[in-house]
Amino acid sequence: MQLPREVIVGNGTIERVTEVFRRLGFTESAFIIAGSKTYDVAGKIVKELLEEDGIEVNRFLVESATVKDVEAVEEELKALKPQVVFGVGGGTKIDVAKLSSAHQKVPFISVPTTASHDGIASPVSAVKGFEKPYSVMAQAPIAIIADTNIIMQAPWRFGVSGCGDVIAKFTAVKDWKLAHEEKNEYYGEYAASLALMSAKLVMRNAELIKPEKEEGLRVLLEALISCGVSMSIAGSSRPCSGSEHLFSHALDMIKSNHAMHGEQCGVGTIMMAYLHRANWKCIRRTLKMLGAPTNAHELGIEKKDVVKALETASTLRPERYTILNKLNLHHEAYERLAKITEVI
Ligand SMILES: [Zn+2]
Repeated sequence: MQLPREVIVGNGTIERVTEVFRRLGFTESAFIIAGSKTYDVAGKIVKELLEEDGIEVNRFLVESATVKDVEAVEEELKALKPQVVFGVGGGTKIDVAKLSSAHQKVPFISVPTTASHDGIASPVSAVKGFEKPYSVMAQAPIAIIADTNIIMQAPWRFGVSGCGDVIAKFTAVKDWKLAHEEKNEYYGEYAASLALMSAKLVMRNAELIKPEKEEGLRVLLEALISCGVSMSIAGSSRPCSGSEHLFSHALDMIKSNHAMHGEQCGVGTIMMAYLHRANWKCIRRTLKMLGAPTNAHELGIEKKDVVKALETASTLRPERYTILNKLNLHHEAYERLAKITEVI
């Protein structure tokens, strides 16, 4: 079980980067991976603060998260041999930092600039170019420095996506339990409870979670970080990724770049909750309250793509047993599901 040793969430926490670096036992060198925008917003500050303290810092900017990006970073890491890697950014930059540092056996510190998904704290990484469209195991961050002042500057849509990714744990945990009951799959009660509690906390505090509101953002960040930790405890993404994530991955394959990960997972959760005979209306209501998409139109996709994604979702990851495998529905039934839940 790999868990973060330091988690710092709050206003201005980026100022404490050197303190965290030293406390973790590092003394000499660091490597920053960021995008051009996230470098300006946060990466530069990290670099300057560390350099002021006499630490050697190199940086590498990436704009996507492909196998090639990871390989390019690994070459740099091999040559420079830094003591620690900082991943500064939203999803993609952190994913590249996490996977390349894991391959090169260098510890990794997560400095998120958005709260758009649980990858900011998880041990898994989503990188394009592998055979499968979902995440692979990398390593958990040794520390997470989440500065709410920086994260609040990102468009609010990122936060909405993060809420969708947390609420998705409702059905992810149900799918995991189902796989345990029907396929005798390992089920970790502690990891499952942690993921589920995060989803409940976000739903209960939905009214607090709105733009410019630090209190709500902290709830969301703590939920996302707890979800990441639950994956570290489980040793896989199981507590956080079930049929609703498979629906989102299927949508990505049908049409990429139409909506954000958490937005798609949120809509998936409405439909999968219906299949699990859970309270899908409550999930839909909460997503609406948060301003998250709840239907095909709001996701910017066509109705037929929803049905197609539902049909292909269960085939993407055969070893991950979910409610979709259990029910094994056909085209008409999926269409009915999407209509009843008002997704189409
Ligand atoms: Zn997710």
